Amino acid sequence: MFWVIEMFSKELASLLSKCISCGACNDSCPLVRFIDGNETLGPRARISVFRAIDMGIMRISVDAIEYLYECGLCSLCDRSCPLDIEVSKLMLGIRAELIKLGYVPPYEIAKMRNSLLDIMQPWSREHRKGKWLPPNYSPDKEANILFFSGCWANRAPEMASSAFFIAETILGEKVYSLGENEPCCGQFLRIAGYEETYKDYLVKLREHIRDREIARVLVICELCKATMRDLGLEVSTLLEELCEKKLIKRLRKRRHKHKSRKVAFLPTCSLKREHASLLEEFMKEKFAEMPSWFCMSCGFSLSEISSLKTLERMVDGIFTALKDEKVDLLVVADPFSYWLLSESRKRNKRKVKTEIVDLYSFLVERIKA
Ligand code: SF4
Ligand code: SF4
Repeated sequence: MFWVIEMFSKELASLLSKCISCGACNDSCPLVRFIDGNETLGPRARISVFRAIDMGIMRISVDAIEYLYECGLCSLCDRSCPLDIEVSKLMLGIRAELIKLGYVPPYEIAKMRNSLLDIMQPWSREHRKGKWLPPNYSPDKEANILFFSGCWANRAPEMASSAFFIAETILGEKVYSLGENEPCCGQFLRIAGYEETYKDYLVKLREHIRDREIARVLVICELCKATMRDLGLEVSTLLEELCEKKLIKRLRKRRHKHKSRKVAFLPTCSLKREHASLLEEFMKEKFAEMPSWFCMSCGFSLSEISSLKTLERMVDGIFTALKDEKVDLLVVADPFSYWLLSESRKRNKRKVKTEIVDLYSFLVERIKA
């Protein structure tokens, strides 16, 4: 016997009860695929756990909350559900409702929220921004296109500086950076389920970046793009700009001296197919056909904060897949994915033979050649 306590809203509860536990979604989940086919990490199990909690069969616990935040909200599973259940939105909705009910996300995420409200950065003041800029950098006074590098590219300075170089040189745009004054875009708050705090943060952010008229914003991270849109600013990713204006085609193609190497490309999920083809054509390399579930959504960036061990297991699985495919070089477009994969490789250099490069440094190498 159990009591139906209906913890979640009718909308969430009905989505939870709609699931028929067929498991069709499990095969698409990168956590399942890259971590030994572990079903407990997949969407079906997650739905079962939160349905049981909603019905009062299971109690909400610290473990259940940590489990909820392991999901990378990548939405790959959404595409394979015969009932069109959007598991990623469901998981995000549960986070938001639990916060409204007074439950606290994992400690590291709650700490990050406080840091964002305090210093507008997700980590401590030691993670200074803009280290990738020349020491004497001063923004061009006439520039009105804001180059917003984002938190992850600041942890991978080679990516930020290459992207900035491309924006100025290839696009020929007058861009400027906020340097060490660049705040976090705040998307962490939204994907953590802090809906109200995110809205308040947007107001703060608007004040902070309005030091001059901004005609447009150029970003390299999809999370930053979502924020700029929420602020009502015109925004595009550098990659979109390069592809839309067909600048990729005008870049000098150069085959790498290791002609026989096999390259794989890890795009961002919003990259259009035709743009991905354009890039692949430009790279003129022997491409590995990577499976469609080969994804590291930027939503996993929150897992880096709260579920690092699970994420590391997933990265190990990715490295094994790259080894099985005999991939020599992996070109990564998303800053978080690049930072995580390259840092993991540095720690496991002997084991991981595949080289990792960010897309912009890869392009710069060809431009300068
Ligand atoms: S949203 Fe992504 S990480 Fe989360 S359950 Fe679905 S496939 Fe797995
Ligand atoms: S595919 Fe849809 S119905 Fe089947 S287990 Fe996954 S979420 Fe439930």
